[in-house]
Amino acid sequence: MNNKKVVIALGGNAILQPGQKGTYEEQLKNIELTCLEIVSLVKIGYKVVVTHGNGPQVGNILIQNEKGSGLVPQMPLFICGAQTQGMIGFMFQQTLKRMLGKENPCEVVALITQVVVDKNDNAFTNPTKPIGPFYSKEKARLAMEEKGETWVEDSNRGWRKVVPSPEPIKIVEAGIIRSLSEQGVLVIASGGGGIPVIEEDEGNYRGVEAVIDKDLAGLRMAIDVGADSFIILTDVSSVALNYGKENERWMGSISLSEAKKYMEEGHFKAGSMGPKVRACIRYVEETGNEAIITSLGNAIKAINYKAGTVIKPL
Ligand code: ADP
Ligand code: MG
Repeated sequence: MNNKKVVIALGGNAILQPGQKGTYEEQLKNIELTCLEIVSLVKIGYKVVVTHGNGPQVGNILIQNEKGSGLVPQMPLFICGAQTQGMIGFMFQQTLKRMLGKENPCEVVALITQVVVDKNDNAFTNPTKPIGPFYSKEKARLAMEEKGETWVEDSNRGWRKVVPSPEPIKIVEAGIIRSLSEQGVLVIASGGGGIPVIEEDEGNYRGVEAVIDKDLAGLRMAIDVGADSFIILTDVSSVALNYGKENERWMGSISLSEAKKYMEEGHFKAGSMGPKVRACIRYVEETGNEAIITSLGNAIKAINYKAGTVIKPL
């Protein structure tokens, strides 16, 4: 039995597969599949902290807000983010507890998590993260004029609102997450990259209209809880060089310096693999531990170097 701590960052496909509508039943079924691997890690002694994305879920809540706005007040984006932490966290908490069963008395808890960002972060003057559905040019124009929002046209699919994606600086609840994990509690935290907040003065936080990248928030978590390894689970089994090209090459173990070189050479797309590799590089640099990128069903294989891309501190 080992006693290692691991932070697992789950991608969108852990909760919703492409093409699905996003019903409760669909999401629960995906979560059940995802939880099998997490439970296996717990059973071999790992202390696990889980974090997850929330893109489609927050998108749906934004639609509910807008369609219901004649009846009930709309909520700010950070409240919608908090809602997704509650709903996704609940599904994981319930499923994990049930799967762990009576023979494994590990407690499971989902924690509403705030992540501090810098109000002077450049992201606030340069919003880049698309959220919610696509709309007409007219609707985008009105929102830009009346509300001062930023909207962008997305390759003929329509117009989409974009919000700032600032760097995560500090997880407000990091201390309690760490101590729960050390007590053997399985924690689900910082969903959707965490609820972005600005620290007004010490201990006084205010929610802001932004979205934190969940891979970078996962990195913050892995460092703050003192994880022995950081695992990012997504929809590809490993990381490729020349991704999507004829000379594509999937990678197993690579060194930190190789990872940095490939990053500079532009092998990893911004907004998808880019932030994952960047988060792993920073984790390995800061901790001297290994970081892993693989697909949902491959976590156990990857910690045994039998799958995935492992970035090593060489
Ligand atoms: P998640 O929801 O897990 O964060 P993303 O879609 O953001 O998933 O990132 C995973 C995607 O990154 C893959 O499906 C793949 O299309 C894309 N990708 C971009 N560059 C690479 C690369 N070099 N190697 C592998 N996948 C890549
Ligand atoms: Mg992503």
